[in-house]
Amino acid sequence: MIRLRGHHLLCLLGYRGMGYSPEYVENMTQIHRALRNAPDTTVLLVSGSDDLCDRFPTSQPSHCNESRVHARDNAVIGKLHLGVGQPATWAEIQQRIKESVEPSDITTLCSTCSWRSYGVCEEGIRSIRDGHGLPVVD
Ligand code: SF4
Repeated sequence: MIRLRGHHLLCLLGYRGMGYSPEYVENMTQIHRALRNAPDTTVLLVSGSDDLCDRFPTSQPSHCNESRVHARDNAVIGKLHLGVGQPATWAEIQQRIKESVEPSDITTLCSTCSWRSYGVCEEGIRSIRDGHGLPVVD
């Protein structure tokens, strides 16, 4: 089972191998690969720090518990009609994203995210809506 917070469900779609540190990238790549190869993997939705946040570098100022990040989690979970503590397979989550999220929603859901300008998250949602899974990044 992989523990993920709300906004990371969308971050994984736009993941292209970038991240906060080599260790963070290695862990995120591993999780991304596991979900891509086995979409029936169970994801447990959590509030606050998750299996990605666990590898956020201690040498950098953490934003994981800032209220704006929690607000982003809640916005994404609400959009997907999911709830914290609820397990779902990655395939079910992808299906909900396909049905409920438009690429343009990134602008409002993720208005405070510094990675947004790369445009890869919109691209990731478009790809899911077109019936593709996670892209190969490794
Ligand atoms: S814009 Fe930021 S928070 Fe939103 S999905 Fe992309 S990386 Fe994640």
